[in-house]
Amino acid sequence: MLHKNTLLCATLSTALLGAVTGTANAAVVASIKPLGFIASAIADGVTTTEVLLPDGASEHDYALRPSDVKRLKNADLVFWVGPEMEAFMDKSAQQIPAAKQVQMATLPNVEPLLIKGSDDDDHDHAGHDHGDENSDEHHHHGDYNMHLWLSPEIARMSAVAIHDKLVELMPQSRARLDANLQAFEAQLAQTDKQVGSELAPLKGKGYFVFHDAYGYFEKHYGLTSLGHFTVNPEIQPGAQRLHQIRTQLVEQKAVCVFAEPQFRPAVVEAVARGTSVRMGTLDPLGTPVQLGKESYTQFLTLLSNQYASCLKGE
Ligand SMILES: [Zn+2]
Repeated sequence: MLHKNTLLCATLSTALLGAVTGTANAAVVASIKPLGFIASAIADGVTTTEVLLPDGASEHDYALRPSDVKRLKNADLVFWVGPEMEAFMDKSAQQIPAAKQVQMATLPNVEPLLIKGSDDDDHDHAGHDHGDENSDEHHHHGDYNMHLWLSPEIARMSAVAIHDKLVELMPQSRARLDANLQAFEAQLAQTDKQVGSELAPLKGKGYFVFHDAYGYFEKHYGLTSLGHFTVNPEIQPGAQRLHQIRTQLVEQKAVCVFAEPQFRPAVVEAVARGTSVRMGTLDPLGTPVQLGKESYTQFLTLLSNQYASCLKGE
C-alpha cells in the first residue's frame, strides 16, 4: 500500500515538473534520417521522433543551428552513430547524460561487426596535395566505416537499445514499446529475406559507388563493389584517381557507377562517358522515405531496388 502511494506520488511530481519546465513534449531526436527510421518504429504511439539533418544535407558536412542545439538539449533521448560520424553534434552530445542517449558505434555487440574504412588506399591513389589531406583527416570517420545504419544487424541491435532506454524513461509505455520492437524485428527479418533474394542474382556484377558508405550493406548481401570515388564526399577525387577508376571500369568490366542524390558530381558521369557502364543512383539516407513504423525496411527495400535497377540492366 505504502509502496503504491509512493510510486503514484513520484509519477505525479514528475508529470508536474515536466509541465512546469516545458519538457513534457520532448521527443526522440535522431541525428540523421535512417536513424530516425529505426527510432520512429520503436517510439511509434509512445513519443515523437525528430531528425536533425535536413533533407538534402550530407551527414559529413552539417553545422547545428541554435534550434538544433535546443532540440538536442530538450530531447528525451538522442540517437546518433558517434563523434566519428556526426562530428557536427559531438560538442552538444557531450552535455547529454548517458542515460539519455544511444550511440550506435558503442553498443556492446557492435564492435566485433565494425569494418575498416578504406581511407588509406584513397590517400595512396588520390594525389591530393597536403592541404586536402588535412581536411580529409578532419572530416573522416576514423579507422572504421561508420555508416552503421546500412547494416541490418546493427540496426536491429540499435532498435533493442532504443527500446531499453525508452522503457527506462517511460515504464508506463512498456507494453507498446515491447510490441513495437517485436514488430520491427519481424519486419526486418522478412525484408532481409526479400532483399537477399532480390540481390542474390546480382553477385559478381561489378560497380563503383561515389562515396565509401555502403560496406555493411554490400557485405551483408554479398554485392561486388569494385571501389569508390572518394571516402569523403566533400573532397572530389583527383585526376589520377579518376584515370585509375576509368581503367578499372573497363578492365574489371564494371556494370554501373552510382552517384547519390546528395552528390551528383560531373566526375561520375565523365568517368563513365564513352564506356558501356551504366549510371545509377544510391541514396544512403533514404531521402524520400517518411518516418514511421515500417520506414527502416522501406529504406532497405529502396536501396536494394536502386542497386538492382542499375545492375540488372535491360
Ligand atoms: Zn557518408
